Amino acid sequence: MAEIKKVGVVGAGQMGNGIAQVCAQVGLHVVMLDVNPDALKKGMESIAKSLSKMVEKGKLQPHLMGVALSMVQPTSDYAALKDRDLIIEAATENLELKRKIFKQIDEVAGPDALLATNTSSISITTLAAGTKRPAKFIGMHFMNPVPLMQLIEVIRGLDTSDETYNTIVAMATKLGKTPVACNDFPGFVANRILLPMINEAVYALMEGVASAENIDQIMKLGMNHPMGPLALADLIGLDTCLAIMEVLHRDLGDSKYRPCPLLRKYVAAGHLGRKTGRGFYKY
Ligand code: NAD
Repeated sequence: MAEIKKVGVVGAGQMGNGIAQVCAQVGLHVVMLDVNPDALKKGMESIAKSLSKMVEKGKLQPHLMGVALSMVQPTSDYAALKDRDLIIEAATENLELKRKIFKQIDEVAGPDALLATNTSSISITTLAAGTKRPAKFIGMHFMNPVPLMQLIEVIRGLDTSDETYNTIVAMATKLGKTPVACNDFPGFVANRILLPMINEAVYALMEGVASAENIDQIMKLGMNHPMGPLALADLIGLDTCLAIMEVLHRDLGDSKYRPCPLLRKYVAAGHLGRKTGRGFYKY
């Protein structure tokens, strides 16, 4: 079984920079790539902020902060991925974009490199089929915020090999996470169940069942959820929530997954949640 030492992360947004951080913290060298220089800059700042919070809380020795930061090399050049053992794609949730990105990655990556996607809902098998290495392709679904959350959903495509699966499980364990296997169906397990709940909360808001604050308070106190569904939607990003609902609706073909019109309206307005400073709440 190959050992992963050099990682590439494509997309430096909230998930990509979190993935880069947890890899760097266990001593893996990371190339973090984004086409948007501003996103790269913000991604590096987020990693520094998150690491310094860990130092403040006594969870990381101060000198290890600099070490971890020095392990992350930001870039906009896909050629920088050529010597990576594993490349994890964490770009915007859009099938055509991810297909295009994997074509570029597949061209530059070495023949033994494994490819993983952090997609929330898109078919692993479909993305794998667009590369020359479906056996070396897998879903590695980190949770948000990556440095804090324990789970990695590990999703095998139809042609993912046992060797790829075992290598990724070992790598996830090295990151201090708990990998849990599931099969390739729209939304996998986490978002097949979570997103319809969030979508229903948006319907409840749209229909005036309660205010956003009260919907969240009822779900927090009543179900013992750490966050209400609307606050969680703002954390995930409303564009990402809508993209996941579109995949569930289209690929499962059931009207029960239709995205709430109010969710569409927020996305159309550019109110995407925390990342734009406004969603169901203001930040
Ligand atoms: P985000 O909007 O914060 O970041 C996406 C990044 O991708 C942006 O910085 C963008 O510039 C970059 N990008 C776009 N096109 C690119 C290209 N061609 N090459 C390189 N980078 C490119 O989104 P996010 O929340 O970090 O989500 C990223 C992925 O992770 C999505 O597939 C999403 O579904 C998944 N995911 C999100 C969450 C969540 O809670 N937000 C949780 C698990 C998985």
